[in-house]
Amino acid sequence: MADRILDLTPKPLSSEDCTQRAPDIPGAAACDINGNEKTYIIEINHISKWFGDKQVLDDVSLFVKKGEFVTILGPSGCGKTTLLRILAGFTTPTEGTVYINGTDITMMPPYQRPMNTVFQRYALFPHLNVYDNIAFGLKLKKEDEDSIDTQVRRVLKIVGLSDYEERDVDSLSGGQQQRVAIARAIINKPQVLLLDEPLAALDLKMRKDMQLELKQMHKELGITFIYVTHDQEEALTLSDTIVVMNKGKVQQIGRPTDIYNEPVNPFVADFIGDSNILSGIMVEDRKVQFMYQEFECVDEGFQPNEHVDVVLRPEDIYIMAHNSNAMINGKVETCIFKGVHYEMTVITDNGYELLIQDYNMFEVGQEVSLIIKPSDIHVMHREFQTNNIEAVMKDQTHIEMLGGIFECLPQDNMESGAKVTATVGFHDIELMDYTEDGASAGMVSFILFKGKQYQVTVTTDSGEDILVNTDDVWDDGDIVGIKILPQDIKISARE
Ligand code: ATP
Repeated sequence: MADRILDLTPKPLSSEDCTQRAPDIPGAAACDINGNEKTYIIEINHISKWFGDKQVLDDVSLFVKKGEFVTILGPSGCGKTTLLRILAGFTTPTEGTVYINGTDITMMPPYQRPMNTVFQRYALFPHLNVYDNIAFGLKLKKEDEDSIDTQVRRVLKIVGLSDYEERDVDSLSGGQQQRVAIARAIINKPQVLLLDEPLAALDLKMRKDMQLELKQMHKELGITFIYVTHDQEEALTLSDTIVVMNKGKVQQIGRPTDIYNEPVNPFVADFIGDSNILSGIMVEDRKVQFMYQEFECVDEGFQPNEHVDVVLRPEDIYIMAHNSNAMINGKVETCIFKGVHYEMTVITDNGYELLIQDYNMFEVGQEVSLIIKPSDIHVMHREFQTNNIEAVMKDQTHIEMLGGIFECLPQDNMESGAKVTATVGFHDIELMDYTEDGASAGMVSFILFKGKQYQVTVTTDSGEDILVNTDDVWDDGDIVGIKILPQDIKISARE
C-alpha cells in the first residue's frame, strides 16, 4: 500500500468557495445564515453518475462536518452504494467533484484517500486468525512488531474482541466477523470510515446490539462515519444527520428528528416511519382543509388555497370512545397488538382510512372519535400542482408526449412541430391493464395511499414521471397503458 503523501489537513474554505459551492438542497448550506464560512471534512459537489444511458445519481451535493455520523438512506437501487463508492474512489463520477479537507480528490485512487470502507460482506482472509486479519495492513507497510501489537490490541478492545485474537475467523459469529472487519478498517486511523450496510447480514437482535456498539465506537474514535442503509429505523437510531435519497436524487438532509417531524415531501414522510398522508388545501396560513373539514394547524408561508399534502403520524391521532360532538367520528376496521401499543385502522364517517397507534385497545367494529391537535398536523408544499409535460405538436389534433401520440382538441394556432407544454391533472389520467389500450406506456414506480385514493407515480417509456390519482390498486413494477382524453389535455406554447 502506498504512503499517503498528499496534504489532507483541514483548510478553511474561502468565502468565494462557499458562494460557488453553496448547494440548493434543504439543510446543506455551505455558509451559515450570516454568510460565515463553515469548514467541512467532505464536500460532494453536484455529483452525477451515468452507467451507459442510465442515470444513477442526479446532481447530488452533500457537506459533511468532521466527526459527524451521516447516514445515506433510501430504497434499493436509489444510488446509495454508488455515492459511497465515488467517495471511496472505486467509481468516478460523470460530473461533479469530491473534496476532502479542501483538497479535490475526485480522481485520487482509493488507497491514497484517508478513508476505509466496511462492506456488508466482511471480506476477511479465511486462512488468517483474528489478530493477523487486523494486523495485515500494518504488516504490509512493514511497521515494527511492537507498534503493530499495541495497535491491534487497542482496536480489539474498541470492537470488544480482546480475548479473540487467536481465533479462526470462520469460527466467529456474523456479528463478531463484522467487528473484525471494522477493527481492520479503523486500525489505519482513517479520517473517514465508510460503512456500506455493514449490519445487513446479521439477525435482528445482533443488529440492534451492533447499532449501539457502532454508536459508542463512533463516539470513542471521534472520526467521521458515512453509513449506507435502507433501514429507516437504523438511520434514526445511529445518525447525527440523515440524507434521504430516491431515484438518484437527494430528497432531504437533516437531523433524525427534523426528517421525522418535518418531512419535505410525501416520499420522505412515507419512507421514514408510518404515516397518514392526505391531500389538502391550505385555506390560509394556520388553517388547512382535509377530509372535507377545516383544521387549525401551525404551518405558515402558503398561498391562499394552495393544494398541499398533510402528514398525520399514527401516534399523534388521539382515539377515544364515541362522542357525537367530536370533529371526526368513525369505526375501527382492524386492531393488531404490536407489543407496546395497538395499531388500528379507523374508517371515518366520510370514508377516509386512518392508521392510529395507541396504548388503549378499541375493538374491531367499535364506534370511536378522533382528535388531532394543531401542532400534530404537518403541512407540506407540493412539488407539482399538476402534470406539466413537454410535448411536440404532430398536427392540429395530435401531440407527441410521454413516448406516444395522444389525440387533443383542435389547436388552430399551433403548427406541427411546435414545442408545447401539455398540462394534465392528476385525476385526468387513466391507467390501463394492457399497454395497447393507452397512447403510451410506463411502469408504476411509487404508490402513496392518501386515505381514500392512491397517488401513483408512473415512469413512462420516455423516462418522465407522471402523477396519477386513482381508486384502482396497482403494485410497484406494474406495466400500464396511459390513457388521457383529448379534453383533459391543456396545451400552451413553450419557449
Ligand atoms: P441497494 O440498497 O439495493 O444496494 P443502492 O441504493 O445502493 O441499492 P446502487 O447499488 O448504487 O443502489 O445502484 C443504483 C443503480 O445503479 C441500480 O439500478 C444498479 O443496478 C445500477 N448500477 C450500479 N452499479 C452499476 C454498474 N457498474 N453498471 C451498471 N449499472 C449499475
